[in-house]
Amino acid sequence: MREQVIEKIRETGVVGAGGAGLPTHVKASATVDTVLVNGASCEPLLMSDPYLMEAEIDTVIRGLHIVMDCTGASKGIICLKGKHSKALATVKAAVAKDATGRLEAFELKDFYPAGDEQVLVHEVLGKTVPERGIPLQVGSVVSNVESLFNIAQAMEGTPVTHRYLTVTGDIKNPMVVKAPVGTLVSDVLAFAGGPTIADYKVVDGGPMMGRVLPDINQPITKTTSGLIVLPPEHTVVAGKIMNPERLRRITNTVCCQCSRCTDLCPRNLLGHSLHPHKLMRVLDSQVLDSNIAREALLCSECGICEKFACPMQVSPREVNAQIKKVLMSEKISWESSGKELTTNPFRKIRAVPTSRLIQRLNLGKYEAHAGYGGEMTATKVILPLSQHIGAPATCVVSVGDTVVTGDLIGEIPEGAMGARVHASIDGVIESIADGKVTIKS
Ligand code: SF4
Ligand code: SF4
Repeated sequence: MREQVIEKIRETGVVGAGGAGLPTHVKASATVDTVLVNGASCEPLLMSDPYLMEAEIDTVIRGLHIVMDCTGASKGIICLKGKHSKALATVKAAVAKDATGRLEAFELKDFYPAGDEQVLVHEVLGKTVPERGIPLQVGSVVSNVESLFNIAQAMEGTPVTHRYLTVTGDIKNPMVVKAPVGTLVSDVLAFAGGPTIADYKVVDGGPMMGRVLPDINQPITKTTSGLIVLPPEHTVVAGKIMNPERLRRITNTVCCQCSRCTDLCPRNLLGHSLHPHKLMRVLDSQVLDSNIAREALLCSECGICEKFACPMQVSPREVNAQIKKVLMSEKISWESSGKELTTNPFRKIRAVPTSRLIQRLNLGKYEAHAGYGGEMTATKVILPLSQHIGAPATCVVSVGDTVVTGDLIGEIPEGAMGARVHASIDGVIESIADGKVTIKS
């Protein structure tokens, strides 16, 4: 039975909808005590998870029970912030009427990054995930709300073809929208009434961890949680576009080693050996094979150091990301000292309230939200064969083939970890190039 359920999750292409897209059948194969539902909606402005918990709680809970049964978990805890009061009330009511008695609701405080897996596990279970570790090592898995929704659909044989995402910023009708995976960003923006400014950039994801898109002819994927339209000079956008040489110059000349970035780093506060202020000197010395340099591998790239902590407006996050890239390309891994991790006693008072972050990022005027805008259709989708962690899917269709929504177009390569990709609209395969399949209706 368990194997059949995991196979259905695999067949339908479910991936972690809230992060880098780990294929969910891999996670569902673990054995744990507790499943945590990550409904923190951690990034400012993103609202699709609270919406799903309000509107589709029965389906989300069905998905949760399936993951609990697969993993042998005796407890399922739905974690969300009190500020999402409607969603919280809906979740509490659903938990109260659940006949199994295995579910709980957990009200998170409104700080960033409450939804970081390691932070979430610590908040809810009081356990610290080891450095470079995963929640499984402390007996839990963390599932995203939309992933659970997709798992419930998978049991009815429905593959992942659509994505709920937030469209906000300088846009006529900010909304949560349901869109076919592969829809062009330009089409999603048009569905939301279009940008209200002539010159703009679009952030794919949240303001803290999202990336600025090179143009709006990109497709949304299974992991696109939001699109934020902002002026090019906005704090959120400007900080994300910096070439490596400029970063190196700024880092070398401006960092005053005040160590505020380390004091507020959520991973350091958990007791992990991550000291961003020391890493700022590594970029300067260019000695990358050292214990300090390896600390970059512990960085979650949450952006607190860059967007909130640093008084000099330099970016330890970007420095870490660049060092990490080099270390990973040279296959240099983290070597744990084996020391017991001690949580910083000031951790709670150093947590960054989301309201202050919004103020700092100058996002206050975008906070008002218009709610659910409906399901959109698309006449053209571009489906990347890699929307997940692992090997890209192998294309199983040819140009000119006719497909209907839900048809398989990308298969997991033999023996590899990956996720299937399915047609998200009815149409004809127009092109297959650069690892992307284009379907025109
Ligand atoms: S907070 Fe900024 S200036 Fe201070 S040590 Fe960190 S990077 Fe340097
Ligand atoms: S981005 Fe900065 S604050 Fe966040 S984990 Fe990395 S070093 Fe710490």
